[in-house]
Amino acid sequence: MNSELIIDLKVIRKDLDLNQSELAALIGVSERTIQSCEQGWRNPGQSVEKAALLLMMARRHGADLEKHRCWDSINCTDEERANCLVHQSHLGHVCWLLSGNLCRSRNLRTWDDKKQACFECTFFQELLPDGVPLLTPDA
Ligand code: SF4
Repeated sequence: MNSELIIDLKVIRKDLDLNQSELAALIGVSERTIQSCEQGWRNPGQSVEKAALLLMMARRHGADLEKHRCWDSINCTDEERANCLVHQSHLGHVCWLLSGNLCRSRNLRTWDDKKQACFECTFFQELLPDGVPLLTPDA
């Protein structure tokens, strides 16, 4: 239940064709932070993970990213849409990023909750069809 899902920052950086300094600048952290994550000395943490995933999605979809709508993709009912802050805020392409949103009546409060639910969600897979690069335990 508490199996940690940690993104592989190095794979994402190479996918984005960025060096460590460029990725650090885009995310707003030090180059040393990126180096430490890639060496396995520390975990990226949620702000770095969210930014890296968003950059990947932007690379895949460009300006079309914000046209994606989670509620259409997973066929939310009118009642679900009416009770959903993501729908009310017109933020269907970043539902995965917003902690605390009700999704299918699940209260996904923490980034760990979100990763567990969203990485297996068909909508998230629509945004990142190649999947999320993850560190393997004991790697
Ligand atoms: S499970 Fe996550 S990615 Fe899927 S619709 Fe809900 S919040 Fe969005």
